[in-house]
Amino acid sequence: MRNRSVTRQLRALGVLAALAVLSSCEAQSRSPVTGATDAAGDYLEIIDAHTHTAFTGQPERTSGIVVSEEQYLKEMRDAGVVGMLAHAAEDGSGYVDLRAQNVITCAGTGARVDVARIEAGLKSAAFGCIKIYLGYVHQWAYSPEYEPVYALAAKYDVPVVFHTGDTYSNAAKLKYADPLTIDEVAVDHRNVTFVIAHAGNPWIESAAEVAYKNPNVYLDGSAFLVGDLSKMPPEQVETYVVKPVAWIFGFLEDPTKLMFATDWPLTHVKPYVEAFKRAIPPEQWKAVFHDNAARVFKFPAKTK
Ligand SMILES: [Zn+2]
Repeated sequence: MRNRSVTRQLRALGVLAALAVLSSCEAQSRSPVTGATDAAGDYLEIIDAHTHTAFTGQPERTSGIVVSEEQYLKEMRDAGVVGMLAHAAEDGSGYVDLRAQNVITCAGTGARVDVARIEAGLKSAAFGCIKIYLGYVHQWAYSPEYEPVYALAAKYDVPVVFHTGDTYSNAAKLKYADPLTIDEVAVDHRNVTFVIAHAGNPWIESAAEVAYKNPNVYLDGSAFLVGDLSKMPPEQVETYVVKPVAWIFGFLEDPTKLMFATDWPLTHVKPYVEAFKRAIPPEQWKAVFHDNAARVFKFPAKTK
């Protein structure tokens, strides 16, 4: 077992240096937006690092949110979100070109990887990442079938995002969605950046450890509760969002590793922002709500 107190000091020095560089670079380029403010009363620009854009025009079954482009852009704007990460479906559906709105889309893949389709999208910058649906697809992250995904991610220098943890369908098989399995691919593909979606919830300890131990692994904190958090008992939000997210952030000992995310349209954006703020120390809001996703996914979105 490694000595966490020694690594804590070494890592803190590196992180502080990185954050100092980031904040000095961004000081001149920030533009005011409507929405939340941070601890210093400054505008807090937010990137939502996990959304879906399969616009049906119908209400989502849990949240009741009407899944339309108009509603998507409105909710994001109202919450001070200036950039979004969207995941296309396993079969490639659900893609909408919203690069002009600063949306970066991950190509979705099923069990058989369509290399030609994904590579064409990466080349044209239609895609800026690749999403693997662990659990929904009954295949391990380290299955040889996914090797072409990791090769493409390395070639085009884009992250791979994994669904992990609880699934929204009972046809999924949970053993494939265990975040501990991401350690396998993180070690074997050190030149690729990986994102564990939902921070493995409810297996947050495994997810946090995999991200803590591997420099190329990050977490998104989406969908810890779905629906409208503002209409739920505050204790429920505290127990199932604020406390676990606070624990994860503390365990990581590195403010660059966790990204704010919702999984829209499963949950309303603004109340999720408020819950996340209670979990993260205000001095780290800029990192968790914006800078980490900006760095990992290379926002702003490329328009060609
Ligand atoms: Zn999702």
